[in-house]
Amino acid sequence: MSAVTTGSTGNTAGAKRTSARLADGREIIYFDESPDAVRVLEDTRDLPPVDSLSTVRYDRLTGEWVAIAGHRQTRIYHPPASECPLCPSSPTNFSEIPSPAYDVVVFENRFPSFAGAGAPAEVGPLLTSVPGNGRCEVVCFTSDHNATFSHLSQERVATVIQAWVDRTAALSAQPGIEQVFCFENRGEEIGVTLAHPHGQIYGYPFVTPRTGSMLRQMQVHREQTGGNLFGDLLDAEIADGSRIVAQNEHWVAFVPFAGRWPVEVQLFPRVRRADLTELSDEQKLALAPIYLEVLRRMEGVFSDTLPAITAWHQAPVHQGRDDFWLHLQIFTIRRAVGKLKYLAGSESAMGAFVNDITPEIAAERLRAVAIDAPIQAQ
Ligand SMILES: [Zn+2]
Repeated sequence: MSAVTTGSTGNTAGAKRTSARLADGREIIYFDESPDAVRVLEDTRDLPPVDSLSTVRYDRLTGEWVAIAGHRQTRIYHPPASECPLCPSSPTNFSEIPSPAYDVVVFENRFPSFAGAGAPAEVGPLLTSVPGNGRCEVVCFTSDHNATFSHLSQERVATVIQAWVDRTAALSAQPGIEQVFCFENRGEEIGVTLAHPHGQIYGYPFVTPRTGSMLRQMQVHREQTGGNLFGDLLDAEIADGSRIVAQNEHWVAFVPFAGRWPVEVQLFPRVRRADLTELSDEQKLALAPIYLEVLRRMEGVFSDTLPAITAWHQAPVHQGRDDFWLHLQIFTIRRAVGKLKYLAGSESAMGAFVNDITPEIAAERLRAVAIDAPIQAQ
């Protein structure tokens, strides 16, 4: 199969953006900090077409959608570093990134949970299935295989934020996508199959269950009090103070009052934004240092690996945009050195969480962590 190299380059504010196509037609986009960066766009691999027969089925009992993506069973599982598909390409490793160097790069996942048009819809009175229209992308934060997000430079974090904003806007404009989720799964214990520092972006064809719950709570609060639930909660956390972990002029990080995970931090902008595309330049600039600080504090709580999930909660594309409050949730399944929290009977079957660490003690531990180097706003 011949490579498709319909490269296009555009300079917007921030990093230089260059898009191209991989050998099987998937999109790849480079975000480069130097305006002089030149990337190899031609993908010389011989790739079979992407198999994307995902569907979503409706669980009538809970009112939630479930993605069925059987093709993901064949995805690459813990390859050696020399065969890392997220490292830049080299003469001995033709990776997913054709260029021999990059800063931040985004490309469509070869094993998507949601993609394009899947199987035709089957709609019955109780058994409803529709094509898993959506999009799944991979974001590589750095070409350094051994790096971690918490020690990226502030300039690099700003480039990652630019990529998230770009992809949130693009996926929100794609027909059929109802919600865009930027996230990072980190650590083998979370089930990460590739060690290279990377995150993912899902464009869901439905509003996710957790966001749906927040929309309902938000609406009830608005009707009962006339206020914004997120803003009122943020004010309550600031007034209480015992769970605040870090703050600056534009952001506040705290352990939520009803935190579910052993160590969980939520990071809210002080001024409401519906999603990442609405952040002001000042908010973006202030985000990088506090994000890095929170990550480093979390890494310091246990002298152990930090299997963690970072999750951007954004307003859905078509619902709740006047009231939803963008925020970042970061949590770990590490509950003690050598011990993990597993989602067992109560959490998995009942959806009822039991947290072994009180949020106030978790916040105290986070505040007590000595940060190895001061992180100043740029
Ligand atoms: Zn790698």
